[in-house]
Amino acid sequence: MRILVVGGGMGGTIFANHLARRIHHEMKTGKARITMLSASHEHVYQPGWLYVAMGRTTPDELVREQQSLLEPGIEFHVDPVEEFHLADNHVQCKSGKIHEYDVMVISTGSRPMPENIPGLQENSINCYTAENAVEFFRQLSDFKGGRIVVTVGLPHKCPMIPLEITFAMHDFIQDRGLRDKTEFYYTYPIGRVHSLENVAKWAAPEFDRMGIQYETLFNMKEVDGKNAQVLSEEGGAVKYDLLVAVPPHKGQEVIEQNGLGQNGWIPTNRTSLHMEGEYGKNVIVLGDTTNLPISKAGSTTHFEAEVAAENVAAVIKIGRSVRSYDGKVFCFIEAGKDRATYAMFDYQHPPQPKAPTGAVHAFKMAYNQLYWASARGLL
Ligand SMILES: Cc1cc2nc3c(=O)[nH]c(=O)nc-3n(C[C@H](O)[C@H](O)[C@H](O)COP(=O)(O)OP(=O)(O)OC[C@H]3O[C@@H](n4cnc5c(N)ncnc54)[C@H](O)[C@@H]3O)c2cc1C
Repeated sequence: MRILVVGGGMGGTIFANHLARRIHHEMKTGKARITMLSASHEHVYQPGWLYVAMGRTTPDELVREQQSLLEPGIEFHVDPVEEFHLADNHVQCKSGKIHEYDVMVISTGSRPMPENIPGLQENSINCYTAENAVEFFRQLSDFKGGRIVVTVGLPHKCPMIPLEITFAMHDFIQDRGLRDKTEFYYTYPIGRVHSLENVAKWAAPEFDRMGIQYETLFNMKEVDGKNAQVLSEEGGAVKYDLLVAVPPHKGQEVIEQNGLGQNGWIPTNRTSLHMEGEYGKNVIVLGDTTNLPISKAGSTTHFEAEVAAENVAAVIKIGRSVRSYDGKVFCFIEAGKDRATYAMFDYQHPPQPKAPTGAVHAFKMAYNQLYWASARGLL
């Protein structure tokens, strides 16, 4: 069986490694083959960009060679897919090379689109690339007081980042003795401070306790850099001295161009993780690129990848899938520089965040290192 993995980020890597260990014998005897295609030779631990923005790590600490993370026997090519020919079970890469498959897994992720909001790109900082996270740190370090506004577009990857970045900046500014000179103003597009109701119920009192003001039902329309204000679809105008953005996201252009899903989100079955539609029987979708109404988070991707790997291994060995994805997500929520909580939930059970503690923060810091073992499929 030829298994083709498109995307060498969290989902593709965890899937391929889990599967390779399960079908070690079949790979050795030539009955199964795993090929991975990616757009980069590097693997980036994106959650680390939050810490780059706060000056607590540097981008090079967050990168490994993709090949070094893969189980022996997985064939790896840096050659992005340009065309998906689902009816013929093959893809065509940038190099012109064609790869055929019996099963294909797509985990090409998502990308921030600040350019979709007029003025946002030029007038705000964000932590969605290594370069932007470094620039974030520069501007935050140079900040001498005034009004910091956080503005959020939906959908975006990492559901907790608007809260985490606000709490982290609060402590950063406080440690520099600038809290009295700084006003924090958080805006959010829906009628509460977070999309997950129980997370919103936990976060709003935290904001109150820390003196962070907030405005809900604020959908960014435009940033007027000349007058340093963000305008909302609802008619609001918020003045800023430093504007921090969580830009709206889309899936990859190649997904949309090939007609696999509007805005780059692929219609995906919520339990089997197969692509919906005529050609979905042998196409599995993982991570940010699904259209599932759940968090676009590494942990979502991780749990999906485990289920998918078990199922593909079972199909090879006993002819049928054995597991369903239950919507499981586990997200840490950094609630400042030295405390954190978490949100664990699935399709049936909403999250119940508890009061933040130093212990959960310490666990998150440890996980940031353990991630590399997790990517190898060892956790
Ligand atoms: C600042 C920040 C903080 C975050 N914090 C957290 C957190 O605390 N907890 C959490 O759970 N998640 C967090 N996330 C989210 C998490 O990083 C993503 O949800 C996760 O990486 C998604 O995995 P993926 O496999 O879908 O995509 P990615 O990991 O983005 O991988 C996509 C892969 O596809 C490849 N690719 C793209 N186009 C092509 C193509 N045409 N052909 C072949 N390959 C292609 C890319 O090179 C890449 O290797 C955070 C993200 C950011 C940016």
